[in-house]
Amino acid sequence: MLKYNHLIIRKKEENFMPHSINSDCISCGACADICPVSAIGEGAGQYVIDPAVCIDCGACADGCPTGAIRPE
Ligand code: SF4
Ligand code: SF4
Repeated sequence: MLKYNHLIIRKKEENFMPHSINSDCISCGACADICPVSAIGEGAGQYVIDPAVCIDCGACADGCPTGAIRPE
């Protein structure tokens, strides 16, 4: 968590966009386990990112097996 503190500070200072999950999601849950701030949860038929919590670190996108997670 410590290594993400600078990103949390950046998020507060800048208004940068979160990542989001598209319909290629197969609900494997890997991204939710990876996210350092618990911004990802199960939605209707796929996983979803809470944009108010996401710090835009990109870790979930790197761990998604279907490439369903992209920066907005
Ligand atoms: S890692 Fe990718 S496929 Fe798996 S739940 Fe997350 S978005 Fe969906
Ligand atoms: S970009 Fe980082 S903070 Fe945002 S949902 Fe993915 S892992 Fe979580």
